[in-house]
Amino acid sequence: MRLVIFGPPGSGKGTYASRLVPRLGVPHISTGDILRDEVKSGSELGKSISSYVSSGKLVPDEVVNRVMEKRLSQEDCRRGFILDGYPRTLQQAYFLEGVSKIDFVINLNVPDEVIVRRLSSRLVCRKCGAIYNKITLPPKVDGVCDKCGGELYQRDDDKPEVVRERIRVYKNEAAPLLEHYRKAGVTVIDFFYEPDEAGGDVSPDTVVDRIIKALKGSSCCF
Ligand code: AMP
Repeated sequence: MRLVIFGPPGSGKGTYASRLVPRLGVPHISTGDILRDEVKSGSELGKSISSYVSSGKLVPDEVVNRVMEKRLSQEDCRRGFILDGYPRTLQQAYFLEGVSKIDFVINLNVPDEVIVRRLSSRLVCRKCGAIYNKITLPPKVDGVCDKCGGELYQRDDDKPEVVRERIRVYKNEAAPLLEHYRKAGVTVIDFFYEPDEAGGDVSPDTVVDRIIKALKGSSCCF
């Protein structure tokens, strides 16, 4: 099962991908995590990409391709993988074709207002990085981390006007890739966001069940 998962920031992509791991028995490969770890390790490669990662600019294709080729050649990818954050350019998609076949693309479609609402209510602990949500997962004490007592703050890039810009950038990036996969005959499974009966988000486990069901042959919403 070789999957690529596409979705805008705040679509729950990372959450769903990590919950699919035990269900599908394949690793979740987040390019952003790999690149951040590389930067943290202080390696030569890490030093050369740190300015891109910290400013949110795309790391050059040839560097990312090399990193991903190495990761995908590891033993745990023999039965497949879930790619999150790769490919992000057509050049990366062409390169990936030379490395591995892709069986499915999962495309999470979430209305802009839902993303803005979710991300602009997100709070992060300055000390330990724990994530809260003013609406769905509030801390016990306002502004204070339950886990370490650190101060909670809103990331600059989670402010509504910045979130809108991140969504715009994502759409420009994803559209040609989705078109490429559709044209190439790869099965693209589109999921369309639907609120639950109370108007909130359905639980991640429910979404993951629906993804599994869709992979088995039926299309659905989440
Ligand atoms: P993410 O966690 O997906 O938001 O990625 C964090 C950062 O890693 C991005 O802002 C880019 O600097 C870099 N990055 C992640 N994936 C890629 C990719 N496929 N190509 C180039 N740069 C990437």
